[in-house]
This record gives sequence, structure tokens and C-alpha cells, in this order.
Amino acid sequence: MENKKRKIYKISIDRKACIGAATCIIVAPDAFELDLENIAIVRSNAMSLGDDTLLIAAQSCPTSAIILYNDDGKQIFPKLV
Ligand code: SF4
Repeated sequence: MENKKRKIYKISIDRKACIGAATCIIVAPDAFELDLENIAIVRSNAMSLGDDTLLIAAQSCPTSAIILYNDDGKQIFPKLV
């Protein structure tokens, strides 16, 4: 049955945590790019990518600077403990 609701509705970057390593851009070049300060920014079409790609990109970040939120605005990655 095809009723796979997406879980990721919003992405943000913790600019203080980002070190410009750019692995997120290697994983998802349509979702992220570096700004003039070498800090990642979320591209306008990022949400056109699937949850899987966005999650892999977030997981690839060495400093966990990519934060993912659900449709309630709750942080779903990195997991809050
Ligand atoms: S992988 Fe993380 S540290 Fe590297 S550019 Fe992306 S957000 Fe920044």
C-alpha cells in the first residue's frame, strides 16, 4: 500500500556547529550549499528530496549541525535525549 507520509518537514542548520566540511553537500547537493562564510545553508528546493536522502545528509554531518523537524515543529534529528 502506498501511503508513506513524510516525516521531515523542516530543516535548519546550527551555524555555530557547522564547520563547512561539506559532506552534506556531497550527499544532497540539491538540499545544501555553502554560503560566503563557508557555512551550510538549506537550499529552497531541499524539501523536494525524500526523507531518506535528507536523513543520510544530516547523519553525515560530523558536527550534527543539520537539524530535522517533523510537521509539529518537533526536532526529530539529532535525537534529543
Ligand atoms: S556536513 Fe555539517 S559541518 Fe559540513 S557543511 Fe554540512 S552542515 Fe556544515
